[in-house]
Amino acid sequence: MNTLELKSAYEAAYHKSATAIYFAPGRVNLIGEHTDYNGGFVFPCALSFGTYLLVAPNDEQKINFRSLNVEAVYSLELSQLTTPLPDKAWANYPIGVFAQFIKRGVVIEQGYDILFWGNVPAGAGLSSSAAMEVVTAYALNELLGTGFDRTELAKIGQKAEHEYAGVMCGIMDQFASSHGKQDHAIYLNCDTLAFDLVPVKLEGIKVVVSNTHSPHHLDSGAYNDRVRQCRLAVEQLAALRPIKYLAELSQADFEQVEHAITDEVAHRRARHVVGEVQRTKDAVEALQQGDIEQFGVLMNQSHISLRDDYEVTGPELDALAEAAWKVEGVLGSRMTGGGFGGCTVSLVREEAIPTFIEQVGKEYTEKTGLKADFYIAEIGNGAHRVE
Ligand code: ADP
Ligand code: MG
Repeated sequence: MNTLELKSAYEAAYHKSATAIYFAPGRVNLIGEHTDYNGGFVFPCALSFGTYLLVAPNDEQKINFRSLNVEAVYSLELSQLTTPLPDKAWANYPIGVFAQFIKRGVVIEQGYDILFWGNVPAGAGLSSSAAMEVVTAYALNELLGTGFDRTELAKIGQKAEHEYAGVMCGIMDQFASSHGKQDHAIYLNCDTLAFDLVPVKLEGIKVVVSNTHSPHHLDSGAYNDRVRQCRLAVEQLAALRPIKYLAELSQADFEQVEHAITDEVAHRRARHVVGEVQRTKDAVEALQQGDIEQFGVLMNQSHISLRDDYEVTGPELDALAEAAWKVEGVLGSRMTGGGFGGCTVSLVREEAIPTFIEQVGKEYTEKTGLKADFYIAEIGNGAHRVE
């Protein structure tokens, strides 16, 4: 939908015109997986698709929420914004954001009629939830004149997801949706929130996101296991190297002390984390030197490490990545996000995209019986006002 169509849809829903349109993107992590809670860096970029929010004030003292993607509509009194709705209502994402503003001492005295529309495939791991939270936070910040910076808007989104959707996510998704910049990726330390915007010049190359449509996902059990195993590795290293996070060890350091990790599983988990931190650093350097081929090689190594050492890929993600590696014109391909299901991200030369979609799609269906979907993305801007 273009903005003209969105405005008509708003008029059809609320019988008046929207006074503003905002946008916040979904994101994809290019490299740096399962490094965030180990004190390491991630390297996500904002996508050209995301969530739009159209809004106008009303004089009902109510916040009305509609979405063109979902049928359910919600109408809340201003006093009802501080309690989550039951039954996983989609409006909990934006309501959670309102609640965070209120928690920060902001008084909401005015009702609003809000309409969302998103073109991020929901539940695919491209963070349609963060896009919705961040677009709401960005819009409210402007409507209420609260002056929060982009990092604070990301934190507001993250807290909304924790408290209103019950998902204990890290900060990466909201940070990328808030801070993203066209043709740049964000080299972000999730612990300190220090970050650099690194130019990603993809001349003749596209970011292709491939969706497994697998019902599997990284559940909290598997996630918590990985967190625990990484902690065990840190504990077993304590006598030789007292560190807080695995990411503090360079590859060379790790090789000197890894024998101290006697738990075989913890050892492999640690090897992934240390390697991935190094690969992410190397990938950023490769980009800075304009060496996109090397960036692709590191993406492939990342997938292999996530498959063999971290064991979070599964047959669907492996089928997609392994099929992609065989296609000429693919620079690199790896799983992205938590793992098991969700998507892979690939860098593909433009002229190879039709072959990529055909061959990878075919091989994926042969191996898994499922049908993959492909999205060709640009690296877009973070949250902004459209008009
Ligand atoms: P992901 O963030 O990976 O896309 P999540 O399960 O975290 O997946 O978030 C998806 C949920 O976010 C949807 O089930 C829905 O509740 C909500 N959501 C996202 N975008 C929209 C939208 N445009 N309209 C209504 N709800 C949305
Ligand atoms: Mg999400």
